Amino acid sequence: MCGIVAYSGSSDEVLPTLISGLKRLEYRGYDSAGVAIQSGKKIEVRKAVGKIVELEQAIATKPIHSSGSVGIAHIRWATHGLATVHNAHPHSSADRRIWLVHNGIIENYQEIRSQLEKQGIKFESETDTEVVAKLIGTLYSGDIRAAVLQAIKQLKGAYALAVVSQDEPGRLIGVKLASPMVVGVGHDEMIIASDVSAIIDRTKKVIYLEDGELIDVRGSDYEIVGFDEQPAEHKVEQIDWDLEAATKQGFDSFLLKEIMEQPRAIEDSIRGRIVLDDAMVKFGGLIDVRDRLKDIDQVVLLGIGTSYYSAKLGELYFNALTDIPTVAVMAPEFRYNKNNIGKNTWLIALSQSGETADTIAAIEEAKRHGVLATGIVNVVGSTIARITDAGVYNHIGPEISVASTKAFTSQSLILLMHAILLGRSDGLDFGQAKSLLQKISQLPGTIAKVLEQCDEIGAIAHKYEKAHNLLYIGRQYNYPVALEGALKIKEISYTHAEGLSAGELKHGFIALVDEHLPTIALATADALSDKMMANIEEVKARKGPVVAVANEKLSIADDTIVVPSIGNDLLQPIVNNIALQIFAYSVARARGLNIDQPRNLAKSVTVE
Ligand code: GLU
Repeated sequence: MCGIVAYSGSSDEVLPTLISGLKRLEYRGYDSAGVAIQSGKKIEVRKAVGKIVELEQAIATKPIHSSGSVGIAHIRWATHGLATVHNAHPHSSADRRIWLVHNGIIENYQEIRSQLEKQGIKFESETDTEVVAKLIGTLYSGDIRAAVLQAIKQLKGAYALAVVSQDEPGRLIGVKLASPMVVGVGHDEMIIASDVSAIIDRTKKVIYLEDGELIDVRGSDYEIVGFDEQPAEHKVEQIDWDLEAATKQGFDSFLLKEIMEQPRAIEDSIRGRIVLDDAMVKFGGLIDVRDRLKDIDQVVLLGIGTSYYSAKLGELYFNALTDIPTVAVMAPEFRYNKNNIGKNTWLIALSQSGETADTIAAIEEAKRHGVLATGIVNVVGSTIARITDAGVYNHIGPEISVASTKAFTSQSLILLMHAILLGRSDGLDFGQAKSLLQKISQLPGTIAKVLEQCDEIGAIAHKYEKAHNLLYIGRQYNYPVALEGALKIKEISYTHAEGLSAGELKHGFIALVDEHLPTIALATADALSDKMMANIEEVKARKGPVVAVANEKLSIADDTIVVPSIGNDLLQPIVNNIALQIFAYSVARARGLNIDQPRNLAKSVTVE
């Protein structure tokens, strides 16, 4: 999500370094940008909606005469509040003497905001970030570091913050918890940024701040301390990446970067949304439609492509955890299928970009029937976010690779959480909900374990790299994942693949099976394992090679991708899918294809 740049050094370099740093971070996604630069005893601020050129324009119209040595800058990728100038960072304390930029999400911002409002403090934006600036302002008494350290004691969530105070010219504070922050140590200058791409053309000497650390910069001197104020030792590391590699954080493609960042992305999707003691899910974005949810008698999940497969998984979740009939519908077909929808139907539309034309058209049609329409969308303020009655954001940061990976994982998980939310008011047992929510909290860690096996999965994929066709089979919750696994390999490696219910195999597809048609079998331990094993036997009996995705090596399979068990049938397929993403990536890479921009495909399909 978003990007921060902060600079301390020569006054001539402040603005150019901030702007060039922001441009380097644009790949992280942006919707607005801003800078705050110390100028004598004052801090000058400029903000603009849109690309960095808009910010440059704003500065050209009203130039900044920087005579100070520090500045902070931000490109925003909104999580709370639309992309407007008011919501753009930097944000300030009530007296406008302290300014900060923030990357991340403050989970408890509503509580802090109400406390501060009670003290008479006025807010100018809808962001979670502004509460941090206002809070620091109330705690400040001449030492910005002390105020920041006090303020963060009250914060829950993820943050990388860069903070400056008008009263302490030349001082810059950086602080980090669960959002990235790296510090470039230059010749007589320091640059703090969200990643090395913003630093790399100035210096290759960097310090990676750890979670729970603060850096206090004065000129080119700095001190790093823990939140407990104890000094923290850090080695200055030499980076050997070029710029291209830096924006992908050293990965060869955005796809691989996005696969690998899933533990963090999923933590962000879950953050602040589980109330374990009540076995409840809390979605701030659905509060306004809470009452309408009580009368729902039907749920329709809408999506297309990867989002549709996630909707298929969601259909199973809703039908397992609620008594409300639920169906997944492919967005372009929605209008041509009488769905008997009405004012007690809850339509949940899934789209990473929030701009998918087929899905927008279907929502508009459904709204004519008076349904409650909500979204599960990644891009804040996108069309679907605006035309629906309410909704839940994924909070996974921008997905740049055309083939979707982290969005599927997040959408599926958020659908499961929707099903728990609805189920809890419809008879879902406290204990069952609580244990599911506990398992959900373990998902980032379990995904990380799959990612550790990237090389092993890659080695297996290379054995099948030349296959022209593949079958993916799964049952129940693993069936939508078989569909998604087949789609992924089609999209990025151009291998023809079919996703099937394993039970469907002998109703036609088995006619194709021979020694040249490998089958990927989703065979992790679950209630249907015996049936799945029988299906694998059927393939083997016809000489079909089998790659099993299982919790332990399967002797009947030619190869097994061993994935960790999360101990829950509903969640295991989400884990299994991570292995299929790596499998598809590995085949595409072995074939030397353009992984991020597969032929004929576009990231956001804005035409029907
Ligand atoms: N949560 C903050 C906002 O919506 C920061 C988002 C970001 O990391 O860009 O303004």
